[in-house]
Amino acid sequence: MLKVDNINVYYGAIHALKGISLTVEAGEIVSLIGANGAGKSTLLKTLSGLLKPRTGNIEFLGKSIAGNKAQEIVKLGLIHCPEGRRVFANMSVEENLELGAYLRKDTEIKTDLAKVYQRFPRLQERRKQQAGTLSGGEQQMLAIGRALMARPKLLLLDEPSMGLAPLLVQEIFSIIQEINQSGTTVLLVEQNANQALKIAHRAYVLETGKIVLSGNAIELAESEEVKKAYLGA
Ligand code: ATP
Repeated sequence: MLKVDNINVYYGAIHALKGISLTVEAGEIVSLIGANGAGKSTLLKTLSGLLKPRTGNIEFLGKSIAGNKAQEIVKLGLIHCPEGRRVFANMSVEENLELGAYLRKDTEIKTDLAKVYQRFPRLQERRKQQAGTLSGGEQQMLAIGRALMARPKLLLLDEPSMGLAPLLVQEIFSIIQEINQSGTTVLLVEQNANQALKIAHRAYVLETGKIVLSGNAIELAESEEVKKAYLGA
């Protein structure tokens, strides 16, 4: 579904992604783990068209998308749920969700809204509430719900568990699994390597802009290198 081939991304003179290659197959959850500043968010921003790779190629559903506008990439079904949730604080929950569908021209937006409410009953209870007054966990659910309203084929999630209480972290990870099981492919960026490896089929480890390890998620979780560096062993 997604094929990233040897991309290099810079912020001015800073070489943030150094020859990254990876793939995501339809139906998978692929996790990308790595320390602060490794380049995880930069990679997601490049996939969704917010940053341009200087060299290298990105293929999504068989089409090259490197350098395409973010809006065109959204229309293809590659949807980015950004770090820090970024909900529109002064708008209601429902308005935020409707904005997720703003590029759609089909007639099933209301049906999808009902599905999001079914998945997140707390959002339905609060549909008229200003998004800025929601708790951190509720805002994360809203951000995911808004991304679902765009009908993602591939959903990019940037640190969905950040800043959440342990119980909510569990809930968010099981929601991600459910979303995947109902047919959405997921590329998940996480600092919570433990959980991210538990729910993933495969994973990549990013260090200072380079992929240093990759493979089956269970095997990676058992490797001494990953245990020492990322699982607090
Ligand atoms: P975190 O989990 O802390 O967000 P990350 O793995 O997502 O980390 P990135 O945010 O992608 O890391 O950052 C990768 C590198 O690029 C870092 O060295 C960072 O300082 C640098 N960087 C990120 N954004 C910019 C920017 N707008 N301008 C210059 N450098 C940047």
